[in-house]
Amino acid sequence: GGMGLLGMGNSNARTYVAGDTGVTFEDVAGVDEAKAELQEIVDFLKHADKYVKLGAKIPKGVLLVGPPGTGKTLLAKAIAGEAGVPFFSISGSEFIEMFVGVGAARVRGLFEQAKQQAPCIVFIDELDALGKSRSSANSPMGGNDEREQTLNQLLSEMDGFASNTGVILLSATNRPEVLDPALLRPGRFDRQIVVDRPDKSGRQAILLVHARNVKMSNDVDLLKLAARTPGFAGADLANLVNEAALLAARHDRVAVTMSDFEEAIERILTGLEKKSRVLNEIEKETVAYHEVGHAIVGSLMPGSGSIEKISIVPRGVAALGYTLQLPQEDRFLMVEDELRGQIAMLLGGRSAEELIMGKVSTGASDDIQKATDLADRYVTIYGMSKQLGPMAFDRSASQFLGGWGNPRRPLSPEVESEIDREVKHLIDNAHHIAGAILAHNQTLLKEVAQVLLEREILDGQQLHDYLDRVAIPPLLSNWL
Ligand code: ADP
Repeated sequence: GGMGLLGMGNSNARTYVAGDTGVTFEDVAGVDEAKAELQEIVDFLKHADKYVKLGAKIPKGVLLVGPPGTGKTLLAKAIAGEAGVPFFSISGSEFIEMFVGVGAARVRGLFEQAKQQAPCIVFIDELDALGKSRSSANSPMGGNDEREQTLNQLLSEMDGFASNTGVILLSATNRPEVLDPALLRPGRFDRQIVVDRPDKSGRQAILLVHARNVKMSNDVDLLKLAARTPGFAGADLANLVNEAALLAARHDRVAVTMSDFEEAIERILTGLEKKSRVLNEIEKETVAYHEVGHAIVGSLMPGSGSIEKISIVPRGVAALGYTLQLPQEDRFLMVEDELRGQIAMLLGGRSAEELIMGKVSTGASDDIQKATDLADRYVTIYGMSKQLGPMAFDRSASQFLGGWGNPRRPLSPEVESEIDREVKHLIDNAHHIAGAILAHNQTLLKEVAQVLLEREILDGQQLHDYLDRVAIPPLLSNWL
């Protein structure tokens, strides 16, 4: 089916493109978890009455969170394609620098159209451009009226339709942390789905999708290409296939060969290195030991949740790998040994590097910052240090911003240095414990790191089977 243009008056016609997207879930690969979660939305759009009869509430708004080029827009289109419903889209950045009132009117118009065409999908790309937290986005001297009006209009539209009208709002952002919390309240974008960069087998699957459209020579090995492209998002892989085809054409070939792909990878890497990091082998190994170090130390710490995922798929300059730990339950209070355990887990990455690589990298800076902050809070805010006792020594609290209470009495130099000593003591102890746990489990550490290097992501049961084997070193029980 063709793409219908449903422009509003003289406003920018690009804004509303509705019609059959022609995209299905088969076109999206390497994001199986997100697809599985979104299947429910497809089912709802297809069989709305089943849900309405049961009185089930379907989410109104789903936020797709992930780095650029991972397939968020593609997924939104695929939902519309799978359900056979119209697709309306708008981008948050289009509202920047518009005249006051135009943005809000446009949002109103969009929802009017959508309600008439329900069931349908409304997709808002770059939600952060529109939905930046009002406090963070505005200068203290006055706000961005236009953006704020548009945001308010969006919020009131979302509140104004019942969850069973058949309009499903999807939205995408790579900066969920800047969003106005009002957007994330129940009844709004209360469901979030992570669309991450793909692991090796995901990259292979994405390459396969895009290889459908080009003539390939028999020597092309997609698994090998997947192994050579850690950190590539779906859009980079689509680009890779196309670049390789262009190179083949330039060489007057009838099919794309492996050497075209290799040349294309080199070109793309040169471009990517500026934007994000592509790791060399030693860096990858360092990151793998670092992440497994967190996981092994974390698995023995009291009250720490289960470790659900470790990944060495690079994600931008800031994080080369990560360890995802889910809390066992909502926690409002932590006890002192849990805090000390968290500090040890944070230092587990550094300790693993020391133990295995023999020298440390800059990769632990964020962990060290967090561990130090935590140790500082332990002493100065939670009053858990035996030496200093239950007193507040919060040096960061400002008498101007804090609002009430007495201005803080300046700390004496003796107390200052006592605090520093206590913080250092906590960190040193945690570091020592992390090192001891890893030394005691060195064989396991190496084994898991090798598997992680091979697969890039370990999650769920796989990971638990390994972590169940972590042995408790003798001195741990004294420490906690
Ligand atoms: P995002 O919205 O996350 O920035 P897009 O959905 O716009 O990314 O992706 C741009 C293009 O990259 C898509 O049209 C598609 O060709 C390719 N692409 C991205 N992710 C995937 C994926 N997971 N599977 C297949 N192709 C993908």
